[in-house]
Amino acid sequence: MFLARRLSLAVLGLGSLAATIAAGPPTTPPTTPPQKGVGINIANIDPSVKPCEDFFHYASGNWLKNNPVPAAESRWGSFNELADHNNATLRAILNDAAKNAAKAPKGSNAQKVGDFYASAMDSAAIEAAGLKYLQPHLNRIAAIKDLSEMQQFLADPKAHAGSVWYGSGVGQDDKISTQYAVQLGQGGLSLPDRDYYLKEDARSKAIRTAYDAYLVNTFKLLGDDEAVAKANAATVQRIETRLAKASKSRVDLRDPYANYNKMTLAQADAAYPNLTLPLALKENGLAAAKEVIVGQPEFMKEVNTMLKEEPLADQKQYLRFHLVNSVTPALPKAFGDESFKLTQVQTGAKKQQPRWKRMLGSTDRALGEAFGQLYVDKAFSAVSKARVKQMIENLRVAYAERIKATDWMSAGTKAEALKKLNAFTVKIGYPDKWKDYSSLNISRESYLNNLFAAQEWANKEEVNHFGKPIDRNEWVMTPPTVNAYYNPPMNEIVFPAGILQPPFYDPKADDAVNYGGVGAVIGHEMTHGFDDQGRQYNAEGNLKDWWTKEDADKFNAKADIVGKQFDAFMPLDSVHVNGKLTMGENLADLGGLTIAYQAFEKTPQAKAQAKIEGFTPEQRFFLAYAQIWRTNARPEYLRQQVQTDPHSPAQFRTNGPLMNMPEFYKAFGCQDGNKMMRAQADRSKIW
Ligand SMILES: [Zn+2]
Repeated sequence: MFLARRLSLAVLGLGSLAATIAAGPPTTPPTTPPQKGVGINIANIDPSVKPCEDFFHYASGNWLKNNPVPAAESRWGSFNELADHNNATLRAILNDAAKNAAKAPKGSNAQKVGDFYASAMDSAAIEAAGLKYLQPHLNRIAAIKDLSEMQQFLADPKAHAGSVWYGSGVGQDDKISTQYAVQLGQGGLSLPDRDYYLKEDARSKAIRTAYDAYLVNTFKLLGDDEAVAKANAATVQRIETRLAKASKSRVDLRDPYANYNKMTLAQADAAYPNLTLPLALKENGLAAAKEVIVGQPEFMKEVNTMLKEEPLADQKQYLRFHLVNSVTPALPKAFGDESFKLTQVQTGAKKQQPRWKRMLGSTDRALGEAFGQLYVDKAFSAVSKARVKQMIENLRVAYAERIKATDWMSAGTKAEALKKLNAFTVKIGYPDKWKDYSSLNISRESYLNNLFAAQEWANKEEVNHFGKPIDRNEWVMTPPTVNAYYNPPMNEIVFPAGILQPPFYDPKADDAVNYGGVGAVIGHEMTHGFDDQGRQYNAEGNLKDWWTKEDADKFNAKADIVGKQFDAFMPLDSVHVNGKLTMGENLADLGGLTIAYQAFEKTPQAKAQAKIEGFTPEQRFFLAYAQIWRTNARPEYLRQQVQTDPHSPAQFRTNGPLMNMPEFYKAFGCQDGNKMMRAQADRSKIW
């Protein structure tokens, strides 16, 4: 199961790009005249807060008061509201598919989606089956007799043990973006970050205690007596703590050069003989690979040592737990309940999400593009696609103007930046060519078997890329996803159908609302191409320096100001945002909003300066932006977010960029001394 664990290297997904928008220049769809009551919800505003003191609470204060986090959630905001709306459509599709699967042609996407969801929802059958379907996999682990058999097991694409030891995958070579490469990197942990194993503060300790209880209870559910379960739990904690110590921090993982170490297979095999890489590659259909890119050599060295040093019996307990932990929803309810107790401590959620919602997510992960086809047929319009495409081109023009106008970049670096901007590929809605699920068998018999079949299919699909031209049509996110991404080696910006809906994009809303909404999202993804990481990749998607030393120094100095601004933000008493971890996202928010504003200023609405509902076009632009980010979050969630998430908490994603923008001060008449208005010397302006 060499490839069952994708690299978890943040934004650098293993995706690909498309020449989707290869047609001629877009035709300009008509602009909608401004309308009242569409886009911004005036009732969300809290008029008791002054916009120049705290714009986040001004724009959404009433909404925040009236929309506490639901019991089954850890945060609640416009993204969740939209996802909820989406889920209603998606759930209806799944219920139909489940009802009609028997009538659908065997092997069709409709049959697979229907039977997968039906098997996932049949909790009575899952309960009745007990460990029947898991047992053969547990037996395989139990039967391992020596290191050599362990190595055989770890290499086998049909063996399952969740994500153990390290991550591996086939993805674009960062330095030769026209080729795929085998990639290896740190992994093998169950908690969301190395720090949870290593830090001695009260919260980290409480999470370790909850994790220990989860481990003990899981081993007991598997039949171990109390003493054995406790010993096995301690073993898993010990092995994972050792892996955590060898792991890099999330901030250190942000340096693409330091995390790119290409070796010949012979060199890697000599450095990590116990990983038996030649065997693992061969078993996974990658015998042709002569090189590997190792993300974190020191980590791999430690895994190599551990495979030899750690007693085989201990390694088997580690595998046994990871196997169970990777499939708890497909096991009797008691397993999921134990897992959720740990989640509760981590995120503060009071109860589990309803099963249909979790299984909808599971179907999206397993059969994303089969399910996604059924979704876009119902929920995505060609008109929206054309208009968003036009906005993207308008933002591209605005970005070029800003690059040309910067007073800190040399002419040579500007020319390279413009080349990169013009080379951005754009994907909107859904893939032109869908993934082919024909070799995947899904039946109604066992949800667990379906999960494993889907995993094996996904591994094979990924491995099959190797040695072929880059699949520029591939998507990393599924169509219903309420999100967007920039992929550096592809140099592409991608907007799934899921996010092209209100409140991000509304065909009936005025331009101010759409530019402050999806416009800022588009600008955000474009700016990722020029953030602290993205700027290190060139127009062809290669990790290659195209900056003069002087320009790079100036960029870093400007970025440092933003880093310090965010270091100072505190979502909870004594809990600070990590300016280095969130650097790329904060730069993308600031740049994105600036570019979206510049593009908006060219629209007829901005030129006409007519007020709607008492607000100027510019005020509506900033209100739309802030209302997108309306979010309530539990304190536990916020703590986990600042530790693990490269995105800052929503209130700082709102106020942080605005505090740097004279355009905002002007729109709301902010004065020196107002909290939202930074002194000139403390501001950052990059683009
Ligand atoms: Zn981002």
